[in-house]
Amino acid sequence: MTKETNPEQAQQYLAEAERRAAEVRDVPHGLKPLSIETAGVVGAGTMGGGIAMAFANAGIPVTLVDQTREALERGLDVIRRNYRNSAAKGRISDTEAEQRVARIRPSVDRGDLGQADLIIEAVFEEMELKVRVFGELDRVAKPGAILASNTSFLDIDRMAAATSRPDQVLGLHFFAPANVMRLLEIVRGARTSPVVLRTGLDLAARLRKVGVVAGNCHGFIANRMGAGYWAQAGELLLEGAEPAQVDRVLKTFGMAMGPFAVGDLSGLDIGYQPPGERPSDLEMTPFTALAYRLVESGRRGLKSGSGFYDYAAGSRTPEPSGEVTRLVQETARKYGIAYRAVPDDEILDRCLLVIVNIACDILADGIAERSSDIDLVYVNGFGFPADRGGPMYRAQHEIGWAEVHRRVVTFAERYRDKWWTPSPFLAQLAHRGVS
Ligand code: NAD
Repeated sequence: MTKETNPEQAQQYLAEAERRAAEVRDVPHGLKPLSIETAGVVGAGTMGGGIAMAFANAGIPVTLVDQTREALERGLDVIRRNYRNSAAKGRISDTEAEQRVARIRPSVDRGDLGQADLIIEAVFEEMELKVRVFGELDRVAKPGAILASNTSFLDIDRMAAATSRPDQVLGLHFFAPANVMRLLEIVRGARTSPVVLRTGLDLAARLRKVGVVAGNCHGFIANRMGAGYWAQAGELLLEGAEPAQVDRVLKTFGMAMGPFAVGDLSGLDIGYQPPGERPSDLEMTPFTALAYRLVESGRRGLKSGSGFYDYAAGSRTPEPSGEVTRLVQETARKYGIAYRAVPDDEILDRCLLVIVNIACDILADGIAERSSDIDLVYVNGFGFPADRGGPMYRAQHEIGWAEVHRRVVTFAERYRDKWWTPSPFLAQLAHRGVS
C-alpha cells in the first residue's frame, strides 16, 4: 500500500534534518572551529577545479596544484569558461567573475601549499598514489594545517597513517559538479579530532553546503548506497529493461536525472581497466563486463558522442541505441540471464528499496548517526526529490517499514545476493510496527 507524501511536511523535515546534521557524537556544539583563511587543492581535474571554485565563490583564497603545466592549464580553462558562462548568463557580474578567478592561484609546486590552513587532495582514485601524496603534503603543510581527501570510496585511515598528524586528517567528499552540488560528506577517520570535524561542518556552512558526517567504510554513506542503486539499474538492463525505460521511471518519480543519463554525463570510462589488468569476464559482474564492452566500442559517454545512448553531433539529447541493445543482449546471453519485459514498478522498487536496505546496515554499523542524515545525502548528492523527503522518509511514510521489509525479502528470495540480504535493522523496524 502506498500513501502520498505531503511535500510541505517533507520539506520541513529536511530543514530540521539540516539543523540536526550539525549535532555530532563527541563533537561539542560550542567547540570553536579552527580558522580557515586560505586553502589548497591538489589535482586540477573535474573535482579539484570544482572544489577550488567552491572556495573562490565563498571568498576563500585557494592554491590549486597539479603535477604538470598542461594538466593545470586544462583545469584553469574549465574554471575560466565556467565563470565566463555565469557572467554571460547574468548570474554574477564581470568584475565578480574576475575576482573569483583571481582567488585561485595555480601552481605546479606543492611547496606553495605551505601557508594553507586546509589542503584537499583530489588526485586519481588510487590508494598508493593518495598515500604518497598525503606523506608529501604532511611535509610541506604548516603545523596544525588540516589534510583532507576527496576520495569517493577509499580508507581515510590509511591516508592518515601516512602523516605525522592523523588527528588532523578527514574526508571532505564533494559531489560533481563541486561548485554546484550542495552535499559535503565529512568523513571521520578513527583518529580525526572533534575540533577538525567541527571545522569541517563549519566549512560546509561557509561554502553554503549541507555537511553530513559519515564514518569511514568503503564508499561512506553516499557511495555505499549509490553502488547498490547502480548495480540494480545495471541488472535491470541485462534482464530486459531499456536505459530509456529505467531513466523515465526514475525521472517520473522525481529524481533529477535517470542513472543512465548520469552515467553518460560522468563518462563510462571512470574506473575502466584494460584487458590484462582486470579480472576475467566471468569473475566480474555482468554489468561491469557490459560497461567495459561499451567503452571498448568507443562508447565513453556524452563526451564521445555515445554511451548508454546515442547523441547527434553537438546534441545532448539522449536517443535509444540499437547497438547498446545488441551488446546488452549478448552480455545477458553470455551470463545466462533470461531476457524479459520488466514492469515499471519493479524498476522503482529495485532501485529505491535496495538503497533503503543498505541504509539500514549503514545505520546499524554507526556509519550514519541518524536516518535523516541518510536522506540529506540522497537528496543533496543524488537528486532524490526533496518533496518526498529522501529514501528513508519515503520508505516510512509512503510505504511503511513492514511492507518495505516484505518487498526486500521477496527480492532476496529471487536474487540471493549481497544487495538483497535483508538488513537485520530493517527487520527490526518492520517488527516494531513503525509505519
Ligand atoms: P580527474 O582525473 O579529473 O583529475 C585528477 C587530477 O589529479 C588530474 O588533473 C591529475 O593530473 C592530477 N594528479 C594526479 N596525480 C597527481 C599528483 N601526484 N600531484 C598533483 N596532481 C595530480 O579526477 P576527478 O574525477 O577529479 O577525481 C579526483 C578524486 O575525486 C578521486 O579520488 C575521485 O574518486 C573523487 N571524486 C570524483 C567524483 C567525480 O564525479 N568525478 C566525485 C566525487 C569524488
